[in-house]
Amino acid sequence: MTVKKFLLLSTLSLLFIPAFGNGYTPRVTIIATGGTIAGIAPSSAGTFYDPAQLTVGALMEQVPEIRSKASITGIQLCNIASQHMTTEIWIRLASVIDSLFSNDLCDGIVVTHGTDTMEETAFFLNLVVPHDKPVVLTGSMRPSNALGADGPANLYNAVCLAASPAARDKGVMAVMNDYIFAAAEFTKTHTVNPHAFESPGRGPLGIIRGGIPVFFRDPGPMHTVHSEFSIKHLHGTDLPPVGIVLSYAGASAVPVEALIASGVEGIVVAGVGHGNYSLEIEAAIPGIIARGVLIVRATRILCGGVASDVESPFEGQLTSGLLSPQKVRILLMVALTRYRDPDNLQRIIDGYQ
Ligand code: ASP
Repeated sequence: MTVKKFLLLSTLSLLFIPAFGNGYTPRVTIIATGGTIAGIAPSSAGTFYDPAQLTVGALMEQVPEIRSKASITGIQLCNIASQHMTTEIWIRLASVIDSLFSNDLCDGIVVTHGTDTMEETAFFLNLVVPHDKPVVLTGSMRPSNALGADGPANLYNAVCLAASPAARDKGVMAVMNDYIFAAAEFTKTHTVNPHAFESPGRGPLGIIRGGIPVFFRDPGPMHTVHSEFSIKHLHGTDLPPVGIVLSYAGASAVPVEALIASGVEGIVVAGVGHGNYSLEIEAAIPGIIARGVLIVRATRILCGGVASDVESPFEGQLTSGLLSPQKVRILLMVALTRYRDPDNLQRIIDGYQ
């Protein structure tokens, strides 16, 4: 089905028409992708649950308060646990968002998403959605019928943010547990607690109180409408493959070699400390670079990143700056659609932090 047909069918079937006064009513589209926010548990007090069970219509019905904030339409893009997210779904999601904004079908978009890879999807969208209207990701740590379910409040906050003129030109954001985060900065830091997200070293962009967003600061400048990448130029094709390898005490170079054999164009090494590697990985790197595979030196540490003044520098490696291994991988995949030379790639990495 084409993106246009998909949009038409999904929006017609899920249109909510709220009663408003004379003022302008913002139009917010909720794109549901699954996750725990759509999960159902056999027991409200237990810890086991099945993610990605509720449809977008059911999510909307759970939070009737959103209808006082915007006219709401819903689209079900997929219904998956976000550990199963793929680059193909990212491209479809970005194309749907681009189409909604380009055809002036809404003023803001909320994407409901599993929390496991929310930061990755947000960062990809931040690079390729060429619009300054708000795109806000949200989800939940507890399933929809759990005691203290956090999904409804998160969805309400996300709609309030997506409907707010203050959210324009802030890049793609996430809203979780009343905090607003910038796509390039946030990460999941707890496996189960509702306060699971942080922007290490930088802090949240703002908060939401009583449905009103309050921003403390702006995100980094290179996002969405300011990005030199756009979903329009990816032409629906998949991204060049880039893998991630973890270093640790005594780490072997076998995973690095296996990735190269699989045909990756780049490898991000999530090093220890300031982007340091085990002896075996260190020994393998010069040969890998000589074979034309790009290496990005990153870190498994949450704060501080990796700058160019690393210990034992190797010629020809890139450094991740403040980006996490999983985010610099996405940036490299997107950047490789336009550039191959290390100077331009490092310029991109440094610019999109
Ligand atoms: N595994 C779930 C997911 O990412 C976790 C969640 O949504 O919180 O889909």
